[in-house]
Amino acid sequence: MTDQQPVEHFHFRCKQEADTGHGGSDEEPTRTEDARVEPRRTENALAPGLYLVATPIGNLEDITLRALRVLRGADRIACEDTRQTRRLLDRYGITTPIISSHEHNEAERSRRLIEELRQGARIAVVSDAGTPGISDPGMILASAAIAAGIPVFPIPGPSAMLTALVASGLDTEPFIFRGFLPPKAGARRTALEELAASLRAPATLAFHEAPHRILETLSDAQAVWGPECRAVVARELTKIHEEFLRGTLRAIREVLAARESVRGEIVLLIAARPLSAEAASAGTSVSRRLTQLETSEGLREKDALRRIARERGLSRSELWRELQRERARGK
Ligand code: SAM
Repeated sequence: MTDQQPVEHFHFRCKQEADTGHGGSDEEPTRTEDARVEPRRTENALAPGLYLVATPIGNLEDITLRALRVLRGADRIACEDTRQTRRLLDRYGITTPIISSHEHNEAERSRRLIEELRQGARIAVVSDAGTPGISDPGMILASAAIAAGIPVFPIPGPSAMLTALVASGLDTEPFIFRGFLPPKAGARRTALEELAASLRAPATLAFHEAPHRILETLSDAQAVWGPECRAVVARELTKIHEEFLRGTLRAIREVLAARESVRGEIVLLIAARPLSAEAASAGTSVSRRLTQLETSEGLREKDALRRIARERGLSRSELWRELQRERARGK
């Protein structure tokens, strides 16, 4: 089957797997000459195909009955880190063989797995946590399987961004997921500015962020949307130290900056608004705002910088660094 084939046919395959409640097809899996794929016989055989299985993002109880059945019944499980996946499988007494497929070998591994899938294998894909393909490997294999006409079955479950979003109190629609921002300061700031410029209506923006970069990212977001923009930092979701910081970008940043260190996994949500022309210029360029205050209000540079620092919730040294960055980028 290719994606050119009738949609009804594909629906039928999905339905067959889903409706039976026991994994659908009772057909004998195709035997293969390739010793690497030895379809495992279980009472409730799964239909051949690729299964994208979501796994817990912290609390190991957050796994569906269907996910466990698929992991048990698959011929093999492709995972990122075999130790991490082994812990989950051990917890549920699952002994399915595992094979590593991570961002560095996903393309090469995909070719081999597609070969096995063509021969009728049932392959489950998991990432270290959450939904495969979301800031994680899985997408390349899923696209290759679709192109090869192999059925792809999503097995839904945890996703850090959705878990954060639904408990954030921010609007869930529209919602824009941007994954990880670039780690380098200049590129990150440009990415935020481009996002801001692309908005035509208010939207909740969601990012995955590393704990050692969250303060810088909050500063960048303040420079773009202003310190009073509402945001949420969701940290260590579903784990013992789960925490939601809800407030303005400035307030959240102050709380985190006051800690000895920021640890744990983080989703950052921002209640972003399209920028007005004035806010856009004030938000994206310190030097333009500086000129504005010097010429229209007659402020001295020192006073203008003090005012801009206050407007943006930045310290004067942070604002000065920001100005230097802009000048280096020729703004
Ligand atoms: N595929 C995963 C998903 O669907 O949630 C995301 C994987 S991505 C490589 C890892 C990032 O997801 C972390 O850096 C963090 O931003 C976010 N994340 C994962 N688990 C989390 C948790 N328990 N609490 C908060 N954020 C989490």
